Amino acid sequence: MLFSDLARTFDRLESTTKRLEMTTILADFLRTADHDSLRDIAYLAQGKLHPDFHPQVLGMSDRLILKAVSKSSGYQENVVERMWIESGDTGTVAEKLMDGEGVVKGGSKQTSLDSLFEKPAPRKRQMSFEDMGIMESESSGLDVSEVMGGLRRIEATDGKRSQEGKINELMSLLKRATPVEARYICRIATGRMRVGAGDMTFLDALGEAFATKEDRPDIERAFNITCDMGLVAETIAKGGMDAIRAVSVSVGNPVKVMLAERLPSIPELVEKFEGRCAMEFKYDGIRIQAHISRDSVKLYSRRLEDLTPNFPDVARFLRSRCRHDEAIVEGECVAIDPETGFMLPFQHVTHRRKKHGIDDAVRDIPVRMFMFDMVYADGEDMTMRPYLERRRALEEGFDLGGMIQMTTMRVVESEEEGEEFFANAVTARCEGIMAKSVASNSVYKAGNRGFLWIKYKKDYQQALTDSFDLVVVGAFYGMGKRAGKYGALLMAAYDSEKGMFETVCKLGTGFDDAFLEYMPTLLNGNLCREMPRSVDAEMIPDVWFEPTVVMEVVAAEITLSPIHTASKDVYKNGAGLGLRFPRYTGRLRSDKDPEQCTTVTEIGDMYERQTHDSDGLSETGDEE
Ligand code: ATP
Repeated sequence: MLFSDLARTFDRLESTTKRLEMTTILADFLRTADHDSLRDIAYLAQGKLHPDFHPQVLGMSDRLILKAVSKSSGYQENVVERMWIESGDTGTVAEKLMDGEGVVKGGSKQTSLDSLFEKPAPRKRQMSFEDMGIMESESSGLDVSEVMGGLRRIEATDGKRSQEGKINELMSLLKRATPVEARYICRIATGRMRVGAGDMTFLDALGEAFATKEDRPDIERAFNITCDMGLVAETIAKGGMDAIRAVSVSVGNPVKVMLAERLPSIPELVEKFEGRCAMEFKYDGIRIQAHISRDSVKLYSRRLEDLTPNFPDVARFLRSRCRHDEAIVEGECVAIDPETGFMLPFQHVTHRRKKHGIDDAVRDIPVRMFMFDMVYADGEDMTMRPYLERRRALEEGFDLGGMIQMTTMRVVESEEEGEEFFANAVTARCEGIMAKSVASNSVYKAGNRGFLWIKYKKDYQQALTDSFDLVVVGAFYGMGKRAGKYGALLMAAYDSEKGMFETVCKLGTGFDDAFLEYMPTLLNGNLCREMPRSVDAEMIPDVWFEPTVVMEVVAAEITLSPIHTASKDVYKNGAGLGLRFPRYTGRLRSDKDPEQCTTVTEIGDMYERQTHDSDGLSETGDEE
């Protein structure tokens, strides 16, 4: 399978922001793609070389790529670097400097800089094949598997002379690549593909290419229980929907976590469950999905990071106490005060995430895992079993005690019992409660946020709204005491339907001096030259960021806003939803991917409840 066909598809994807168009472009390509290459194609389309849970990430630095571009094109490094400063994208630089056969362009490399800048200024949209007058058939002859192989060798290059090794590997690909192929090879090497087709679009395209509309939920389920787009793509292409339906939960493939909806009071929550539900304490720690096999254990975060090195004691303990050969269980890992035995807030357990000194951290920060679900045991996928059955299996599957315990749970049958259980949870220093359906359909819905689980936190009693986990998409330079620093941030929520980040507030409160100092380190790795393709904003910040960093924010109220784009035109023409008096809580949600932040639908639901409670639409803005 020629890499040029894939590169051409990426190029076409970049020419539109419409999800339906992207789906059709991808589906047309997937239909004709060689089935044996589909696994690689699925990863490369996301700018990756493996499924998301794979520990290795290529992420070559821009500097190294520029060196390779300089060496393979013959242009001096300062020329290449200046072009990069202009365009902000190593891919664009490589495309402009490489010709189809890797032959050096231009005469004197000393004087070539001016002539390069005589070219038209970088355009918002990348040039398409047609724009460049390149025949559809133009190809370097590079194969998808050759590109994948080269990139994997770069990733694996380690040790003393690794930089040189990486540059040489990249050069050998670039020297053979056409300009457009070079653009995408460089972008994949940095891990920043920017074609804008996310997981949902790719799943839509697989459905369009190989199945029917009705099959779409089953395709998504296969992805949600394996977290492996390559596996799903190859399975559907080779075995059709029968093979997709046979995909099962298995140890080693993380399952996308099930999430909870929220309601503002215990009575509403009990009513939602028609008077009967299970309630569990909601612990304030790190969610862990443990994959236990015969002689090893892997612990995954909800972002699919491998947390085993941070909790080696938990991994060992789980293996020694598990009565099954294989199991997948979930729980919340909480730090415990070694002197008092009380649970400590979330921040303490995050010290276990530091890369260095894990032995000291294991000694100084003892933890306990409160287990709440079991999705697999000894060959059986348990996700379709109801909650109480899964819970019983979990309890019976372990010798409980010490570092592993069950979450405190009670089946409640009235508001009073619910209020009492909630009070007990708060006394035990928990965040609140998780109420869970005990109905026969109370399955484990991987990757889904729904009303089978509902959370209720003590914070809800003090604030008008729950906290929000928002993504930083831009920053404004500070003034006065904040001169020379970022003074405020442009924050966005996620629209999972559109795959876009839409703004909800300008955040300038809740930053202490240390955080103000730290902000550039935290954010500048994600700087973008222009508004990222996945962001929809009308408020224009001084600098843009690729949506990456998630921060917890509280606010007094959700309001209609003429300038913010979340749920634009949904509640009122010309208005979106904004947060009034937003404040950073001091909690960075590094355990969340940007797509796992608060969604615009959740904010819309909160807004509807708020306006229902106050009996009228509030309409103020945070726009100063
Ligand atoms: P929050 O910001 O409220 O922690 P979240 O956005 O991280 O929520 P939610 O689905 O909204 O995720 O809340 C569920 C989270 O609560 C789970 O991901 C898990 O980490 C944690 N948790 C604590 N105790 C429990 C429990 N008993 N059952 C399920 N999840 C629990």
